[in-house]
Amino acid sequence: MRLKSLLVSALLLASSPIFAKDVPFEVLPWNGYKAALSMTFDDGDPIHLDVAIPEMNKRGLRGTFYLITSKLTRQEDWKKAFAAGQEIGNHTVTHRHTSELSADDEKNEVVNAKKTLEDLTGASVLTLAYPFVEISPGLKKWTEAENFAARGGGGTPYMTPDMEPDWYNISSQTTMTAYAPETYPKWVDQDLAAGAWTVLMIHGIEGTQWGWQPITKQAFTGFLDYLVRKKKDLWTAPFGEVCAYWRAQKVLEAAEPKKDGTTTTLQWDIPANFPKGVQVKLSIQGDGLQVSQGGKPVKPLSPGVYSISFDAKQLTLENAVWKPQTVPVKTPVVAEAPVVNAGPSVAAPAKDVLKLDDFESGSPAFGQGWFEGCDGNGVTKLSPVPFSVLPGGSPSSPGHCAGMKGHFGPMQAPWPWALLALTLNSDNKPVDLSAYSAVRFYTKGDGKAHTIMLNKASVTDYADYQATFVSPTDWTKVTIAFKDFAQPTWGKQLDKNFKDVTKLSFSPNTPDGDFDFKVDDIELLK
Ligand SMILES: [Zn+2]
Repeated sequence: MRLKSLLVSALLLASSPIFAKDVPFEVLPWNGYKAALSMTFDDGDPIHLDVAIPEMNKRGLRGTFYLITSKLTRQEDWKKAFAAGQEIGNHTVTHRHTSELSADDEKNEVVNAKKTLEDLTGASVLTLAYPFVEISPGLKKWTEAENFAARGGGGTPYMTPDMEPDWYNISSQTTMTAYAPETYPKWVDQDLAAGAWTVLMIHGIEGTQWGWQPITKQAFTGFLDYLVRKKKDLWTAPFGEVCAYWRAQKVLEAAEPKKDGTTTTLQWDIPANFPKGVQVKLSIQGDGLQVSQGGKPVKPLSPGVYSISFDAKQLTLENAVWKPQTVPVKTPVVAEAPVVNAGPSVAAPAKDVLKLDDFESGSPAFGQGWFEGCDGNGVTKLSPVPFSVLPGGSPSSPGHCAGMKGHFGPMQAPWPWALLALTLNSDNKPVDLSAYSAVRFYTKGDGKAHTIMLNKASVTDYADYQATFVSPTDWTKVTIAFKDFAQPTWGKQLDKNFKDVTKLSFSPNTPDGDFDFKVDDIELLK
């Protein structure tokens, strides 16, 4: 019986304002707005500098850009983005999987990247996003030592002010190629309805050379326009700003106010690595109310609303009325499933043999275009970059072919990559290749084994379906059945199908070695 009555009173306490304690102020959640939203962009994709930031600057919107310092290019442009109010965050030095990190690496990935980014911006870099949203105890330990908050992935997409979050694993939701453009305004609507904070994890945008899960430029700018339309109610701000506000709110709410006659005082401590200059909005009532910090009066922003300095660590109220705290009703927010593009994949034309390219006509027979490129680590060398056709070709189309020649970096951080890739659809839509069962092409080269990949939209961790083939010294026809493509064992294993293929790509398979191979007459077979 005793346990039961304890439970009952605990439930009443949670749901009824009658039992709420009296407080001399209330923190207005989300800087006084109904809800908050943060856009975060990962990996330092140049498309963020070329499209995302200009479009955001134009609309007065700010977000967070998580940079990988070993792949940092265009430093002057990132400095300008920072000067325009964009947050620069830490996405580690090399973006390796946690399974590849020694204890020393875990420290260096966090500490060294932070130092590099602080040298770049001349300011504190206080938030981090985990690569692949993988969190090992060691990585988290160093993240906690160097930051006041970190972004994770998944979890509750709509965080309400009453939640007690893990400041070092804040939830986020991810933009995906397969989502219809109306998905993102709907996320805003759900966020506003819940009075919550939602964090978006954004990677590629249309036109990206290598960004993961690109979304169309139209979907992106349409979403930005929607944020502008909602700006009266929605606080769109960088991850670090919203998170600092929320964490400051929790600190103020946990501090015990002391009452002595008509005077109420409050003191608090500032969490480690906390940003400076955070202001928090409080609702305070009272006849003859006077609010001060460090002996200096604080004027109201509007009747009963005061913006106080969190840095001051102290607040004094004269004649404040203590009222029962408004206990928020905890209704868990159930996120709606995102709208997947109607018929997310475009069906490939049904033919016995679908020619992709013979490199004779200046553009692919099927597909949008070729990209050729490699990492910028300094060890991998590749030509021709950018893509161009090469003279000569297979016996069936001897004019031209495509090829990759160079040196592949060693298989260690920063990881090497080199790609010759055909984007299959001009609208960035995945293509349904289920009418086909094999790929056939000619190859000639160094006699070494290389890799062909079918990149699928649903593969979200780079563990793309792949197969190996050998490039002999004479032009040779190779046929590889789709059933012989497999994902690397380190990735998330999906059901094998080729209903959402975005690219067909070739890659050298010569760690710390030279490569030289050509391909021609690429076809899909029924
Ligand atoms: Zn990343």
